[in-house]
Amino acid sequence: MNQFTIPKPVNEPIKDYAPGSPEKETLLTKLNEMSTEIIDIPLIIGGEEIRTGNTANCVMPHDHSHVLAAFHQAGEKEVQLAIDASQDAWKSWSKTSLEERANIFLKAADLLAGPWRDTINAATMLNMSKNAYQAEIDSACEMIDFFRFNPWYAQELANHQPMYSPEPTKNSVELRPLEGFVFAVSPFNFTSIGGNLPSAPALMGNVALWKPASSAVYPAYFIMQMLKEAGLPDGVINFIPGRGSLVGPTVMNSPLLAGVHFTGSTRVFQGMWKQIGENIQTYKTYPRIVGETGGKDFCVAHESVNKDALVTAMVRGAFEYQGQKCSAMSRAYIPTPIWEEIKDKYAAEVNTIKMGNPEDFSNFMNAVIDQSAFDSISEFIDYAEAADDAEIITGGRCDDAKGYFIEPTTIVTDNPKFRTMCEEIFGPVLTIYLYDPKDWEATLKLVDSTSEYALTGCVMGEDMDAVAQAKEALTHSAGNFYINDKPTGAVVGQQPFGGSRASGTNDKAGSMFNLVRWVSQRTIKENVDPPTDYRYPFLGEE
Ligand code: NAD
Repeated sequence: MNQFTIPKPVNEPIKDYAPGSPEKETLLTKLNEMSTEIIDIPLIIGGEEIRTGNTANCVMPHDHSHVLAAFHQAGEKEVQLAIDASQDAWKSWSKTSLEERANIFLKAADLLAGPWRDTINAATMLNMSKNAYQAEIDSACEMIDFFRFNPWYAQELANHQPMYSPEPTKNSVELRPLEGFVFAVSPFNFTSIGGNLPSAPALMGNVALWKPASSAVYPAYFIMQMLKEAGLPDGVINFIPGRGSLVGPTVMNSPLLAGVHFTGSTRVFQGMWKQIGENIQTYKTYPRIVGETGGKDFCVAHESVNKDALVTAMVRGAFEYQGQKCSAMSRAYIPTPIWEEIKDKYAAEVNTIKMGNPEDFSNFMNAVIDQSAFDSISEFIDYAEAADDAEIITGGRCDDAKGYFIEPTTIVTDNPKFRTMCEEIFGPVLTIYLYDPKDWEATLKLVDSTSEYALTGCVMGEDMDAVAQAKEALTHSAGNFYINDKPTGAVVGQQPFGGSRASGTNDKAGSMFNLVRWVSQRTIKENVDPPTDYRYPFLGEE
């Protein structure tokens, strides 16, 4: 059992980057510095920088001809090198104490809260087109929280021991790392998720191969440098950017695959699970499969709702970070009479949103991530424009001439199964279905049955009986359920995050329940006075 104690962490305070603030000044300096150079990003395998020559570019989505970096992509040879390096590192890393491992991630948290904050925030703003606030809550605060809370949860797990050790036995449970390596595959939209996917298993004594999304390699590379500075030994996390369709299958064919820690789309995750199923007889252990995937997140407003709060929740929930959050509000159910009252205010608010470069701090919205996202989102908008049963009431224009810009778009439909009510769009598009307040119960059934996902959702209303009814009716419709709040913005240590159905395995990132997936427990019973006679007492003669 571990004797050291990690103090209970608190959430990293969010800096606000207000005009004239010192944090705004240093961030602007860093943005300027980083946007005037082009760096070369190698793979990092066993601590060695490896350049394959097969490069792709990291660009600014809001100015796509502006190159920030060229990154080298892994092929089959590098995947094998990374597996070998991970297994070398496993020999010593799997034997280190939790205290030693925790101290490295706690140090990383301090580095990120201090000297690395501007670099990783600026990298996120430039390569992912996030505004300063969205970068701050992601790449600074959430990642710091992951690095501080996970060690504390790991300690809780280690302290969770068998209830009884009747004399003459001593019972304990040991948290062993998995044999093999964990494959961490991260999405483009959160720098903190990229940081967490390989580091949560590493904290538990595992080694990892980390494949970041190709459109967000730039901030990921700085995380690798920061972890090295924090003291993470070479080979514990091996950085192998590259094409998912090549790197993924190659990694998962290894008999040493011990786990997958994935965040991204449902289809990619299902493909990975299928491949693992097909290979199941070749693996040394059953791989742990943890995946947080897509969403079609809802807001259901009751007619008793505070209308200003509803409008704010809709604008922020749907359009922050251009709707590219797995938790973004993308379908809203609003009673017709209320809509008549708030429609103009809502549209007026949306029309005040400024969109452009994240280096200009007056912009609330920036660009979507890349050409493929731009094409897919604009196709949904074109579809709505052409449809008879939908009307676009805000936005609708898309322009990819300089950057991938899509206006905050609102569709109103009288078809509750309209395509944009059902499918994940992952862009700044909110679809509203108006219902008759008499149909409250039927509407809740509709919310539950409209999409394959169950990630986040909210109910808004001041009639608490109606709210309670919604909470009950929507039990399985969202893994993160909000009452009178937007469905986004989960905070580590406050709202453990994850969804069910097609939205993922719901292992709740940033909680003990995620960490438990990265250990294989060994139960130890020691008998300090073992029996020396096989005969039971009842065998005695009268
Ligand atoms: P994506 O599925 O396109 O890519 C995710 C990662 O998978 C990338 O690193 C990609 O290169 C990799 N990949 C692609 N094909 C692969 C393969 N065959 N084998 C292995 N890896 C492969 O997702 P994205 O566009 O980067 O992110 C957006 C998606 O992520 C949305 O669906 C969103 O809802 C989801 N997401 C979910 C959560 C959550 O917590 N539930 C959080 C963030 C994002």
